[in-house]
Amino acid sequence: MKEEALKLRILICTLFIFSFLSVSCHANSKATSDEESYQKRMELYRRVEITTQIPWYYIAAVDHYERSIRTVRNDLPRAKGITGIYIPPEVWSGYLNPNKNDMSPLSIQLFNGFGVDGNGDGKANRADDADVIFSFADFILNYGVDEDHFRLALWDYYKRDKTVSIIMAKARLYKHFGKLDLNHKTFPLPRGYNFTYHNTWGDSRGWGGRRIHEGTDIFAGYGVPVRSTSYGIVEMKGWNKYGGWRVGIRDINNTYHYYAHLNGFSKGLKVGQIVEPGTLIGSVGSTGYGPPGTSGKFPPHLHYGMYKDNGRTEWSFDPYPYLKQWELLDRKRASAK
Ligand SMILES: [Zn+2]
Repeated sequence: MKEEALKLRILICTLFIFSFLSVSCHANSKATSDEESYQKRMELYRRVEITTQIPWYYIAAVDHYERSIRTVRNDLPRAKGITGIYIPPEVWSGYLNPNKNDMSPLSIQLFNGFGVDGNGDGKANRADDADVIFSFADFILNYGVDEDHFRLALWDYYKRDKTVSIIMAKARLYKHFGKLDLNHKTFPLPRGYNFTYHNTWGDSRGWGGRRIHEGTDIFAGYGVPVRSTSYGIVEMKGWNKYGGWRVGIRDINNTYHYYAHLNGFSKGLKVGQIVEPGTLIGSVGSTGYGPPGTSGKFPPHLHYGMYKDNGRTEWSFDPYPYLKQWELLDRKRASAK
């Protein structure tokens, strides 16, 4: 039985090495556009899928999570290659391995390390895309390739519920849309309606004690449609004494988009639903500052907030410059038609 498993592993290794060679041949050009890097990544994920049966969107989700964490954490180096997965030296080589930079697949295995040789050069190199992504795939294979086992593998690796759910959400989005580029954005209110907004970041707020304003208020009439600005998953929907009727959507980049003071929700909107830029989520209102249903304590507006997660904590940042950019982009798109 054990021998069978080993044979299978060797077969998978070989298949993977073989398929990777054809990727790396044309993966060396320097000036890579976003589109090209999406293409290269997709190619790599598909090849991992073919050789390991791990669905491409699982690998893509882990890879994307790791890359995004590295852009917001100072203690991790930036991603340089095709993959964004970062495996610390002591994990790669094995905790008890005296040589933290060990590249020998055999001694790494002896010390129960994470690293394996994915590209067949005889080394398990932390700086090599194929070695890194195959090591992760190899780790997942210890559990299984279906959703439940993948989830378990993630839990054992990250030991943080929130990280597991963020990665699972990314996988759902990739699977649903069948592409890696899910960065397109739109302004929350459609063109053709009157609205005004100013940069009110950090203004103090009187109601409910000392708070600062974490977002941008977009003033518009009651009932003006409110749309999702991004691809994402509805993570929260309901009442809050400050925000009134509000919706929270998490996008592929781990950014949480918060829409508050809504008059109501769009019909059938539910937690867990997948949305895209322009999906109707509700309409402008003035709910909040009291028990459920409280309305009219301030002029109608959409409160729009953005929050970021770095794998440890969540914090808010100023949405105003993004709103300005998306409004402009919507106008350009409309005039191009
Ligand atoms: Zn506000």
